[in-house]
Amino acid sequence: MQLTFYGVRGSIPTPGRDYVRYGGNTACVHLSLADGTDIILDAGTGIRELGNLLIKKQTPIHLLLSHNHWDHIQGFPFFAPIYQPNREINITPGMTTMPEFDQILQQMQGSVFPVPASALTSQISIKPIPESIDSWQIGGATITRLAMNHPGKGSAYTIEADGAKVAYITDNELYPPYKKETDFLTFVEFARDADVIIHDAQYMLSDMPAKSGWGHSVAEEAVKLAMASNAKQLALYSHDPERTDDDIDAVVAHCNEYTAIAESSVSVFAAAEGQSLKFN
Ligand SMILES: [Zn+2]
Repeated sequence: MQLTFYGVRGSIPTPGRDYVRYGGNTACVHLSLADGTDIILDAGTGIRELGNLLIKKQTPIHLLLSHNHWDHIQGFPFFAPIYQPNREINITPGMTTMPEFDQILQQMQGSVFPVPASALTSQISIKPIPESIDSWQIGGATITRLAMNHPGKGSAYTIEADGAKVAYITDNELYPPYKKETDFLTFVEFARDADVIIHDAQYMLSDMPAKSGWGHSVAEEAVKLAMASNAKQLALYSHDPERTDDDIDAVVAHCNEYTAIAESSVSVFAAAEGQSLKFN
């Protein structure tokens, strides 16, 4: 399995010279399995560039959405395979409070976007997974799902394939001030022994309490989750739009102090656009 980050930014795209190293596109991660299966996690603006790669193929595309906040669906109208005749695109919507499963298509209508979803020639199917089902297969991958702590809620996923496990947990507030969907220890079991946990780390302790309840985690909390889960790597994700490249470097350095003090072997890094991880 190869994992590539196409968008790592939370909330809103951040072009500009201070954001070049980590990138300014919003959430999108591509998983390429050994059997040729393509799984995409979220459809933020990063999915546009991924589309230029995938349009060279004809095989089905599987898109797992965490939720419908704009930064997780706004790239979809610019995802080239949706204009590819008969290209099969299967979408799993997130478990959001309001069950607006087709919101990713609804954004393409009226005065908002010139091409209505009804005019697309690809074969797009949106298949909600019943809440009673926790695990299912996509190609050679086993997918599991857990409810996130986030305004409007949503889904976290694990993807196990080719002997590797990826946990994708964004946007998630590990310690929210509101009634939580999932507690910390349940996330620990969910992500247990992952090769990499991609976790929301939008904030630092210095951002609190002002941003408590906004649905994102403090970086140190993500480190705690990775250590408790016995994960090999932690990718800090959903970088705050106000955080420059140098700021993100400082977040990573701060997190590495935590792992050093704990004598933990987990490798912590900040996800960067274009960065790939290869497993096995
Ligand atoms: Zn969100």
